[in-house]
This record gives sequence, structure tokens and C-alpha cells, in this order.
Amino acid sequence: MSRDQPVRSTLPPPAPLEWESKFFQDTVKLVERTSDLMKLDPNIKHRLTTPDRALIVTVPVRMDDGTVQNFVGYRVQHNNTLGPCKGGIRYHHDVNLGEVSALATLMTFKCAVAGLPLGGAKGGVRVDPTLLSRHEVQRLTRRYTVEIINFIGPDSDIPAPDMGTNDQTMAWIMDTYSQMKGYAVPSVVTGKPISAGGSKGRREATGRGVAYTIAAAAEHLGLKLEGMTCAIQGFGNVGMYAARKLARMGVKIVAVSDVTGAIYNPEGLDIAHLRKYVGIRQVVQGYPRAEAITNDQLLRLKVDIMLPAALGGVIDAEIARDMKCRILAEGANGPVTSEGDEVLRARSDEIFVIPDVLANAGGVTVSYFEWVQGLQSFFWTSREINERLYRVMHTAFDDCVKFKEKFRTDMRTASLMLGIHRVSEAMLARGLFP
Ligand code: NAD
Repeated sequence: MSRDQPVRSTLPPPAPLEWESKFFQDTVKLVERTSDLMKLDPNIKHRLTTPDRALIVTVPVRMDDGTVQNFVGYRVQHNNTLGPCKGGIRYHHDVNLGEVSALATLMTFKCAVAGLPLGGAKGGVRVDPTLLSRHEVQRLTRRYTVEIINFIGPDSDIPAPDMGTNDQTMAWIMDTYSQMKGYAVPSVVTGKPISAGGSKGRREATGRGVAYTIAAAAEHLGLKLEGMTCAIQGFGNVGMYAARKLARMGVKIVAVSDVTGAIYNPEGLDIAHLRKYVGIRQVVQGYPRAEAITNDQLLRLKVDIMLPAALGGVIDAEIARDMKCRILAEGANGPVTSEGDEVLRARSDEIFVIPDVLANAGGVTVSYFEWVQGLQSFFWTSREINERLYRVMHTAFDDCVKFKEKFRTDMRTASLMLGIHRVSEAMLARGLFP
């Protein structure tokens, strides 16, 4: 039956239970709070606090001992208003729908903050990849790819590496997808090895981008970057390349950590030497040229720059109160809880936060470059990649600072405002289908 008059919709239902997790609720709170400050259209606000689509799959894997284990995998597309969805795939024993949805939401705004024509997605499998052999990880990856194959594609949703996955994982996804299609489809994933259609500079991109935003923040605050001290939580892809780039910029890296604990040397760590040590031992624990401390102690160190580059939710209200840094650069996604964020907002004159959607956007930026190069089958030099990355990161930083000053707010709120503004303008321009 058609009606002449539009009917006012009822109030939106609360977030469904399956998405409820602390991280997702924190992310929703942040988006809602920011949308309210911007006086955003309530319909758009509600749409932005729930993902467009979410897929849960079971991934059966034959293990090396002949048994079969079932793992649970996810792929969530949060919003595709600005372009195809883009986001990493995480292998971690804590992965759940709430976490993947929160990360997909952050990806939407991260792409928008960086000015990329992409939407936000995320995926993951609940598994500890360190307990699996290489063959088991390969079989898991190929089966997961097949389970989500109708969900992803170079025009719709393009995965990339995240925690627990790397360029090899992306090569297996690309190969599996291509085998199913019958021809090579390199642009279905980014973060591939260069030999399989990857981009120069992708592996280093997130850490390098973090370093660029730290340099921009130091300049903005009128501080000299050279000689600053820095502590880094997590010495994986992001933490390690950020450490290398910052050390080259003259920053003294005094502490780093991984899942086994932290190491500290107030005189500064030799990052090249530490990389060699970690290359052999796989962990920072036992590194001879430093003293052992805990991850919690690392976060409380008195340093100029604190760089969390591991897990989400590691900075709660208590740690936020104890932190003694001048710049907090969020290499990790969602490292600060909403309670921690309240404390940091009250301390925004003391601690300048470079939020995740800005600080770690270098990864998705070079992923975007890789996707563009793959579609054109025309590849750029390292120099072209790094210059373009530098421009994107500095422009994004300046755009966030403009919002910060215009709305007299903190950096996290300003960055999210910028991201929400860009997505919501496009949503309003495109209109509601049908
Ligand atoms: P990774 O798997 O390469 O490294 C993670 C590091 O964190 C490892 O050193 C690991 O030992 C450490 N770690 C794990 N649990 C820990 C704990 N409880 N305490 C201390 N350290 C711990 O992952 P990555 O790709 O470097 O990603 C790190 C963070 O950066 C994640 O939050 C990820 O979402 C985010 N991120 C990554 C990229 C990228 O391009 N890789 C892009 C944007 C954001």
C-alpha cells in the first residue's frame, strides 16, 4: 500500500547484541559524541554507528597431525559511500565480531581523513597463528578466502595485512581468489610481495607514516624532533619500521616491547642491532644491551613520544593519568579506551594525541597506491611512493589541525569530525536508495 505522506520512522533500535564488545561500544560512543558535537543528521549518525554488512564464517582446516579444526572468521564492511571497502585481515586469538566491526568503522574514517576514495572494512580469524605451522596457516588462509570470496573483490572490498598476517598471507589470498576466477586478479588484495604485484614501500608504509605525523606534530608544537626520546609498544610491522624511520630522523628510541615484555635503555637502543637480534630470536626478551621492564612500565615512562603499536585498549584511565609523554602517536588501532580518552582529553594541553585514524593512515594510503598501480598495471618508484605518502600524511595532519582550531577541540575529536564530515557530505549528496 502506498502512502501520500511520509511516515516518521520509529526510533532506531539499539545496537544488536552480536556487535556488542567493549571496543565496538567505545567506537560507537566516540562516533556518537563527535556526531552530536557536529550536529550531524541523526539518520546519518545512526547509519555510521552500525556496519553495512557483516559475515561470519567457519573455516575448517586439516592440521598437520591429520585432525580437523574449525576456526571462526569474519569480514565486516562498515561503509562504502566514498568507494570500495578497504581494510586489513587480522589473525589473533581474541578476534571477535565486535572488534572487527570497530576496526571496520575506524577504517571508514581513516580513509576519509587521508582523502582516499575508499570505504572501511576489516576481517579476521580467531586463531593464534604462532601455534600453527606454515602449511596450516596457508590452508587456513586459502579456506578463509573461499568462505568470503563473494564478499571481496577489486571493485568491492580489498583486504590487506593486519596483526598476525603479512605479505605472504596476502599472496595466498590473491592466488586463491585468482584460481577461483581462472585468471590473475592482483588488485583483490594489497600488501602483497613485490614479486606478486605488490607496491614498493607498502611494508614500511604504516611505520613511516606514523613517523611523518610525529614530525608534523613536533613542528606544530614548535619542538625540535632531533634528540627527542620515544618508547614503542609492539615491535612488529608498525613498531619496527616506525622505530627505524624515527631513529633516522634523530629520535632516540629508549624502549620497545612485544608480547614477551619490554626493554629499556635510557641512552637509546641501536635499532639496527635490535632488529638483527629479533630476526634471530623472534622476541625482544633477553636483549643484552638494555634492562627488562614490563609493558605497563613502558607506557608510564617519561619520554617525549609514546607510540603504542600493538593491541587495542591498552591505555585505560589509570595509565592515561600516569602517562608522562608530550606526544602520543597511535600506531595501533584503538589503543586508548573511552575512559582513557576522557582523561587524555582533560590533559590535552600536556599530551598532544595523534589519533589512530590519522597516525597509522600511511598503511592504507600505500595500499591505495598499490591498488591503483595494480589496476593500471603500471608501477611507481620508491621515491614516487614515499613523496606521495609524505604529501598525503602532511595534508591529512594539517586538515585535522584546521578542524581542531575551527571547532576548538582535541585532535581525536577533530580527526573524527573531518572523517565524518567527508563521509556524511557524500552520503547526503548520493541520497538514500531507493
Ligand atoms: P604485528 O603482528 O606485525 O606486530 C604486533 C606486535 O605487537 C608484535 O611485536 C607483538 O609481539 C606485539 N604484541 C602483541 N600483543 C602484545 C601485548 N599484549 N603487549 C605488547 N606487545 C604485544 O602487527 P602490526 O601490523 O605491526 O600491527 C600493530 C598494530 O597496528 C595493530 O593495532 C594494527 O591494527 C595496527 N595497524 C597496522 C597496520 C599495518 O599496515 N600493519 C596499519 C594500520 C594499523
